[in-house]
Amino acid sequence: EPPVDVVDEAEATTPEEYAPPANAENYQFQAEVHRMLDIVVNSLYQNRDVFLRELISNASDALDKFRYLTLTQGDQYKGDDIPLKIELDYDKDAGTLTIRDTGVGMTHDDMIQNLGTVARSGTTKFLEALKESGGETGGGVEQIGQFGVGFYSAFLVADRVTVASKSPLSDDQNIWESVNGESEFHIYADPRGKTMDRGTEITLHLKDDCKYYAKYEKLNQLATHYSEFVVHPIYIKKVTE
Ligand code: ADP
Ligand code: MG
Repeated sequence: EPPVDVVDEAEATTPEEYAPPANAENYQFQAEVHRMLDIVVNSLYQNRDVFLRELISNASDALDKFRYLTLTQGDQYKGDDIPLKIELDYDKDAGTLTIRDTGVGMTHDDMIQNLGTVARSGTTKFLEALKESGGETGGGVEQIGQFGVGFYSAFLVADRVTVASKSPLSDDQNIWESVNGESEFHIYADPRGKTMDRGTEITLHLKDDCKYYAKYEKLNQLATHYSEFVVHPIYIKKVTE
């Protein structure tokens, strides 16, 4: 008989229920990053649509970076047949939205560095800007991308964010994961093994009042709006209901 506190992974979407796998490494967010996350998580009266602009823009940057490295450092970043693209995928029943790119990806150490432990100068500036504009209830969170911390806008709409990434520089595919305002994040080997040759897949476990983002019409409208300067193709899964 299994112990009573085992939680079905697929259902563990709320902070109370979620527990990282036993083999996960746990890291503390840098203090300012955690303060900012707290504000982002609780920004209920903001334009939350902007998370998609930020995640598409990161995907696009990662594709640009891969293309550049292919041209300049061909040995490590071999050009191959995998097309440069962005995919938006969703599962209405699970309440998840996934943004996938075939860009440069992140190694285990990249994820730790880029997504939480190393302070970025923009974090403090963003916190200051929020204070000036009235904090959580005032405006301001929409400008998150200008401060170089756009990734965290994922927490405007998701209470759990799961990033799977595979860099061409490593054979491993790892997961970065964090839950709603926690002071730490978790890193572990992707239990699915290697599902990508390279790139990043960000899965948003949508908050209860944000499930409407897991819909073709909404995503198509937002992606059209936010992809004006994106040169890479964006494919959106279409499910007819
Ligand atoms: P910025 O894009 O301004 O650098 P972000 O907070 O949006 O700030 O992203 C932080 C960092 O995380 C990026 O600089 C990049 O190193 C990494 N990152 C985020 N998304 C991706 C992605 N899809 N692929 C590869 N790296 C990413
Ligand atoms: Mg960004």
